[in-house]
Amino acid sequence: MLLNALIVVVTVVMMELVSILAHRYVMHGFGWGWHRSHHEPRTGWFEKNDLYALVFAAIAIALIHAGTRGHHPLEWIGAGMTAYGFLYFVAHDGLVHRRWPFRHTPRSGYLKRLVQAHRMHHAVAGRDGAVSFGFLYAPPVATLKRQLQALRRDAATSRPDAPASPADANRAPRFPP
Ligand SMILES: [Zn+2]
Ligand SMILES: [Zn+2]
Repeated sequence: MLLNALIVVVTVVMMELVSILAHRYVMHGFGWGWHRSHHEPRTGWFEKNDLYALVFAAIAIALIHAGTRGHHPLEWIGAGMTAYGFLYFVAHDGLVHRRWPFRHTPRSGYLKRLVQAHRMHHAVAGRDGAVSFGFLYAPPVATLKRQLQALRRDAATSRPDAPASPADANRAPRFPP
């Protein structure tokens, strides 16, 4: 019993690590075709990016099914994935993106940092140059700001004609005195 509970907890932690890597290298990589919808204004109830949640849910169901057929402890790994999916839904879809009927904005503590960190992920519109790929783990906001500025500097130096930040893009061109 204790071991099963431990498997569930470890799976939740592992799922956050898997999600960070998948978000960074799959969703912002070759899987951008599905994830792009999440970085654009939503037009209806659903977005193409929700397909990722369905894929993870299907894997969790398959694991629980195999576990109850005797392949222990796969059912507990599936339960951990389901628990992670629930936490992801509450934190990401609910708290940050407000896909539920009521609004709650955390004013302090870790949840405030979680919301701010994910807003900073959405500060970049395109596929490249984003920060903060976690959904339950949020680095300090000051760290993310530094990372974002460094990425913008890099982008500006590799493409001299590109604006370093949206603010620069709006600024009138400066002429030498
Ligand atoms: Zn993203
Ligand atoms: Zn998001």
